[in-house]
Amino acid sequence: MRHPVVMGNWKLNGSKEMVTNLLTGLDAALAGVEGVDVAVAPPVMYLDLAQRLISQGNSNIILGAQNVDVNASGAYTGDISPEMLKDFGASHIIIGHSERREYHHESDEFVAQKFAFLKEHGLTPVLCIGESEAQNEAGETVAVCARQLDAVIKTQGVEALNGAIIAYEPIWAIGTGKAATAQQAQEIHAAIRAHIASFSAEVAKNVVIQYGGSVKAGNAAELFAMPDIDGALVGGAALDAEGFAAIAKAA
Ligand code: 13P
Repeated sequence: MRHPVVMGNWKLNGSKEMVTNLLTGLDAALAGVEGVDVAVAPPVMYLDLAQRLISQGNSNIILGAQNVDVNASGAYTGDISPEMLKDFGASHIIIGHSERREYHHESDEFVAQKFAFLKEHGLTPVLCIGESEAQNEAGETVAVCARQLDAVIKTQGVEALNGAIIAYEPIWAIGTGKAATAQQAQEIHAAIRAHIASFSAEVAKNVVIQYGGSVKAGNAAELFAMPDIDGALVGGAALDAEGFAAIAKAA
């Protein structure tokens, strides 16, 4: 039985004050919420503060991060290792976000390397996949997602997906207010799961596939009612404690 995961990707947003208010507010707003794992990925700069705030709260908020690098230590200026993330209690690490693929030219192979590195260090990869608007219009959605997944499956084996999270985020839906409809998203999620099932039915049945792209309190319940949508990766709406808690409650 898959357990939904609702994760907030704060992207490049935050200050000490904002992190404090958001996590304090979220802890209160999540009181009594059950049956869903709730995670937040602040900028790494704020992991220490976030870890302290979460440990003072009651809501078992899972701490995550937005990226990791592929080296453990050494002369790699600006990089962050899995052990550093673990040191601050971060367990769920987003990789392959379309913003990193686009602005930092991260390839499928590089993202797959990060995936393997996280697994090796006992961390949970949140692997983002998804098509651009042009690819969507050209009918390439499933092929693009399959290619992005295959970079992991064909080098690490399909079992590498066990315990990992996949986030299907159509690029045209990110930050646009134009979410995929629940039916559209369900269709792609089912196709992604079928692709994984072509390697292992067991892995496909158990892997969590989140939807991301303009998820908000108003459309979350409809999305989560779909059989293959197991929670969400939330951007803008995760910056508001009440709104994000409402999304988690819908899962
Ligand atoms: P929005 O929820 O702002 O569309 O962002 C989605 C996203 O990119 C989460 O990783």
